[in-house]
Amino acid sequence: MDAFDDVFAGNAKFAKKFKESGLTGTAARGLAVVTCMDSRIDPLGLLGLKPGDAKILRNAGARVTDDVLRTLVLGVYLLGVRRVLVMPHTDCGMTKVTDADVHDLTQSNGVDTRSLEFHTVPDQHAALLHDLTRITSSPFLPADMPVQGAIYDVRSGVLRPVG
Ligand SMILES: [Zn+2]
Repeated sequence: MDAFDDVFAGNAKFAKKFKESGLTGTAARGLAVVTCMDSRIDPLGLLGLKPGDAKILRNAGARVTDDVLRTLVLGVYLLGVRRVLVMPHTDCGMTKVTDADVHDLTQSNGVDTRSLEFHTVPDQHAALLHDLTRITSSPFLPADMPVQGAIYDVRSGVLRPVG
């Protein structure tokens, strides 16, 4: 467990001050946020939210994959989600490579990833519009649910609406 000593030590401090929040698993602000795994993004902080307010779905590139759609369906019908913000960001690694680049890179490490689709992002604006449409056109989600795109600027902290 040595590789995780720091995080368990961090949790020990956290748990000492933790007050039972009394929150449920329902999104108190009715919000789901789809964003990137980028370590510079603090979704709750940058949106003025706190734990309990929103469902946060993260993956490489903030892409609306089948698994994100599956999770949104659960969020809407089980966990109080009534609106969705899709939030990619500037300087995203996924905009700097193609799927072919990633396959080449892994190949050079002796790993064949050609059975995986990485959903890299050659055009961030187009990808975001595509992903918003995936949500708004899903037969499994409410047709009138508000869905918004926005790009988070990792240098300024500003969130710019798109779409
Ligand atoms: Zn990213």
